Parts: sequence; C-alpha cells; structure tokens
Amino acid sequence: MDEKEELGSFDPNIPEEGPSALPPGWLDDVDGYQSHQGGEGENPLYPPPPAYNPQPEQNRNTSVPDIRVPVVSEDVARDALLKFVESKWKYSSKPARNLTFKDLKPFTVYRYRLETYTETRTSAWEFEPYSGQHVDGPQFGVSPLPWDVPVTAPQRYSDTVQKVRVPHSFFVKMCHKCNGCGRTRCGRCHGRGSKRCTLCHATGRIRSKKRCTSCHGRGHRRCISCHGHGNKTCTDCNGNQNLLHFIQLTVTWKNHVADFIPDRQPDFPDRKFEKVTGDPFFVDESLLVYPLHGFPDQEICDASRKTISEHLSRFTSTSRILQQRQTIELVPLTQASYSYGGKDYDYHVYGMENKVFVSKYPSACSIL
Ligand SMILES: [Zn+2]
Ligand SMILES: [Zn+2]
Ligand SMILES: [Zn+2]
Repeated sequence: MDEKEELGSFDPNIPEEGPSALPPGWLDDVDGYQSHQGGEGENPLYPPPPAYNPQPEQNRNTSVPDIRVPVVSEDVARDALLKFVESKWKYSSKPARNLTFKDLKPFTVYRYRLETYTETRTSAWEFEPYSGQHVDGPQFGVSPLPWDVPVTAPQRYSDTVQKVRVPHSFFVKMCHKCNGCGRTRCGRCHGRGSKRCTLCHATGRIRSKKRCTSCHGRGHRRCISCHGHGNKTCTDCNGNQNLLHFIQLTVTWKNHVADFIPDRQPDFPDRKFEKVTGDPFFVDESLLVYPLHGFPDQEICDASRKTISEHLSRFTSTSRILQQRQTIELVPLTQASYSYGGKDYDYHVYGMENKVFVSKYPSACSIL
C-alpha cells in the first residue's frame, strides 16, 4: 500500500485545538446571573433575597424540662469493662472478673448541639454538543432569577447537591474549540498523520543495512493518536460544530452541626464523647430556634445563645436557612472505683454504648 493513501495529508484548514475554557465575552449575559462573586472558583454565588431568610424575633427564649441523671449498675459496669479488656490483647480479663467495686460515681454531662440546615445557590455556564435538540432560549421567556428556579428539596438535614439547568438560558453557538470545523488538528503529529520512527531514527534502516521492522523502511510511522488522519473529532462538540450553552444552577443543601460539652471532667478526655451518643431528652426544632432559658446548667444556656447567634451571622448572608434543631443530650458518664490485689483503681463507663476508658489497669500477675 502506498503511504500517501495510508496517511492523511496536512490540511491547513483544520484548526489547532482552541482553549478548553470559554474565551472572555464569548457568551451573552443573562439578567440576574452575571453580577455576583464569591462562589467556588469563578462561579457566582447568589445570596438569597432578604425575604427568603427568616428574621429572628427579639428577646425570645426556649425553656427546658427537668431531667434525671442515670446511674449504671455494678453488673453493667463490670460487663462493660470485661468487653473492653477482652478487645485488648494487652489486658487480662482476670482482674475485671474478680475486682471488688468500691464506688460508682455518676457525672452529669450535657451535650448541646445546634444544627442549621441551609440551601446555597451558585451558577456556571455549561455546554454540550448541539445535535438538533430543543433549545430553550430567551424567546420562550425571561430566565427566572437564581432563587426562583424551582427545585425539589431533599429529605431534611441530608447533605445533597442538585444541578439544574436554568430555563430559557439556552442558546447555540459555534464551537470555540474547533472554530466550527468539527475536527481539530492532531497535537501529537502536528497534523502530519505520521511521526518519526524512533527505532531507526527516521533512517529506515537498522545498523545501516537491515530494513527497519518498525516502520518497514519508511522512516516514519502512522500516528496512533489520529490513526494517520492528522486531525481528530473535536472533543467538545463531538464533531457537531456547534455547542448548546446554558446556565447550570448548583443547589447545595448542607447540615451544619455544632457540638458543645462543658469541660468539667478532669480525669476523662472530652474528645472521647465525640464517638458516643447520649439520650436526647430535649429536642427543639423550628425554622429558627431560640436561646435556652432557665436550664440549670448556665454554660449550656450560654453555649446555646452563642452558637445560635454565630450560625445566624455565618449563614444568612450566603445561604437560606431552611430549618434549625437544638438538642440537649445527657451523655452517661460513670466513674467506677474498685480494688484488686490490694490496690485501688478506677475507670470510666461512658455513652449510651457503655464504652470504657481506662487510664491504669492491674496486670494479671499482680495477684498470686
Ligand atoms: Zn523505523
Ligand atoms: Zn496524529
Ligand atoms: Zn468543536
């Protein structure tokens, strides 16, 4: 086969690949979508119109009912310790089975939690190859403003992202990457369709005699990237020469959670509480919640006031607040003191899961 037939000839009319990003000014502005900044990267973020966010009532508070502090029994405390030491190879279960309890001291540990569920809207121009699909352009009406684009809200408190194409923002334009050609010059062979043979250094011969087996003596090989054509189907328009542009709205629902536990247990590391649940004896859920009032633990009341005000100022300027929930959990914590082998020890049982925290544990051989 003659190589001229096999290889495409260089075509100066097929352009090099254009920019993958749209050139500035390539697209027309759509009312309500151009003048905002502050989203991810270059994408505009739209603060909700003030009327979309709830306004907190002044001087409003929330009361909390009385609660009772739970105590674990000796059996529960022992079972929890046994389960714990059996999960650790370095501890023997013998002391746990044979220890003598001296005291089980319950602590009142409250955890305050504020959840604020928000919705945020940003937009970006997107495109797809245009092959004759319906074009929902401005002739069908004015595009709704970012916060007027209808979406289906997900289940409350779930983190979700939804992408929606803005109605009437569609239009067709010549592909910017191939300049409407549908094909782009191959970047690997610069449009020649072939590349220098690297085995024979383009001489066609190996060790100056033998015909090169890689290029069959031609000195060059067909470009694998473009199959010898010198050009490729444009990856942006897929050969369709035109692109369908539209504004894509990204709607993000997010649950923001803030936890607070007063630091009052000197012998117990507070971070351990993060992994366990408590008993949520007080749950207050509303569009906006209000600072706790009259609860016996003042630090919890202060945390509620502070966190609520923080969330309001943090989220109302950028997002729409859809729901808030404040919870007070009673997180079980018992300090169990015992003696074993004539010495005194202690450990903590914590959380609804009855997890155990041990700082010092007797070794199996400390008793004979
Ligand atoms: Zn060769
Ligand atoms: Zn090529
Ligand atoms: Zn193209």
